[in-house]
Amino acid sequence: MTAAPPPASASDGLDLGALRSEFPIFTARGPRFHYLDSAATGQICRAAAEALLAYETRGRANVKRGVYRLADEATQAFERARAEIAAYLGAREAREVVITSGTTHALNIAAHCLCARLRAGDEILLSLAEHHSNIVPWQLAGERVGAVIRAIPLDREGRLDLDRLGELVSRRTKVIAVTHCSNVTGAVTDIGRVREAAQSVGAVLVVDGAQRVPHGPVDVQALGCDLYAFSGHKLFAATGAGALWIRRELAEELPPFLGGGEMIRRVAIEGSTFAAPPHRFEAGTPPIGPALALGAAAAWLAGLDWPAIHAHEMALAGRLLAGLRTIRGIRPIGPEGLQARTPLVSFVVDGVHPHDVCQLLDERGVCTRGGHHCAQPLHEALGLEASTRASLALYNDEADVDALLEGLEDVVRRLA
Ligand code: PLP
Repeated sequence: MTAAPPPASASDGLDLGALRSEFPIFTARGPRFHYLDSAATGQICRAAAEALLAYETRGRANVKRGVYRLADEATQAFERARAEIAAYLGAREAREVVITSGTTHALNIAAHCLCARLRAGDEILLSLAEHHSNIVPWQLAGERVGAVIRAIPLDREGRLDLDRLGELVSRRTKVIAVTHCSNVTGAVTDIGRVREAAQSVGAVLVVDGAQRVPHGPVDVQALGCDLYAFSGHKLFAATGAGALWIRRELAEELPPFLGGGEMIRRVAIEGSTFAAPPHRFEAGTPPIGPALALGAAAAWLAGLDWPAIHAHEMALAGRLLAGLRTIRGIRPIGPEGLQARTPLVSFVVDGVHPHDVCQLLDERGVCTRGGHHCAQPLHEALGLEASTRASLALYNDEADVDALLEGLEDVVRRLA
C-alpha cells in the first residue's frame, strides 16, 4: 500500500466515530462500504431522516392553505425550515430564501427571472468550469431575449482564470453566474474578485453553491453575491428540495418563474398579480418533507465544529492526492495543492475508461463516479472526454481513502 501518511494531527479534536454514527447508512452497510461520491449526493444525516419521517407519518398536511391545526403546524414547520436554511447561508432574513427542488431548479429560476431584465446584445458571463445546470438555463433564457453568453476560461490548474475578467466584463455584462466550487477540479472560486468585476459594471452576481455548502456554513453577505443556489441532497438531507437565496431588494423586482397556486395575490381571468417573495417563486405544493429535512440538516450542521471538520477533510484530501501521485499511470486533474480547494479529486487512469475504473472499484465496495460529471466544457478545456472522481465529505475516514488507493493500484495492474 502506497498511501502517504496524513498531515500530523490534522483531525485532532474531531470524534469521527460519533460523527459517522449520525449517518445511518454507515451502520446499515458495514465496514466494507467506502462512499466517495458525496459530490453527486451526500448521505442523509439522522436529523434530516427523522424530520422527513416525522412529517410524513405524524405531521403531513399541505402548507400555506388549510386553517386546521395540522395544516398550521405543517406551515409553521416549513417556515422554520426556511429560517434554518437562511441561517446556514448567513441571509439577513428568512424571506430571502426560496425553497426549490434543488440547484437546477434554483438556477432555472435565476436565469428565467433575470433574463426578463435583459435586452438583445446584453451579455451573460459564465465560466468554462460550470456544471451544465449553470450553463443550459442561461442559454435557454438568453436565446429568448438575444443575450450573448461568454465564458471565463480556465488557467493551467483548471481554476477560473480571473486575470481575464478585465477583458470579459464590460457595460454589456448584465449577469455573471459562476460556481463557488467546481464539481470536477474542487477549485474554490475567489468570489470576491468576481464580485468586484460585477460591481464595477452593475452586473448581478449569481453563485452556484452546490459543491460549497457540504463543507460548512456560508456567508452570502460577506460573499457579496446577489443570488446563491444549492441542493439539499448534497447537504446531507433528502432528495427533492434545495434553495435559492435572492437578495431582498432584487427579489422584489423580479417576475415569477412558474405560475400556479400560492404564488399569486389575486387572479382574474383578465390577469393576475403576484405574491411577495419568496412565495412568488414557489408555485404549487412545495417539496414539504424534503424541505423540513433540509432545515433539520442545516440546523444540525450549523452546530458542528467546522474548523476541525475542515482540517479532517483536507487531511484526507492530502492523503488522497499524495497517494494518487504515487500510482503509475494516474494523473490527478485540477489544482496541484490543497489551497482553495474542496476535498474532491478527479483523475485520469491512462488507457482505462472511467466507467471501467468505477466498476472495478465497486467490486471492493468503493463508490466513485466516472464520466463528464455534467461538465463537458470543462473536460473539453482540459483536453479530456471524461474522468473519475472521488469526493469526500465530513464522514469519510482514512480507510475510505486507502481502499480507493489499493483499488486503483489493482485497476492499473489489471487494465493499464
Ligand atoms: N451545480 C453543481 C456545481 C453541481 O455539482 C450539481 C450537481 O452535481 C448541480 C449544480 C446540480 O445539482 P442538482 O442535480 O441537485 O440540481
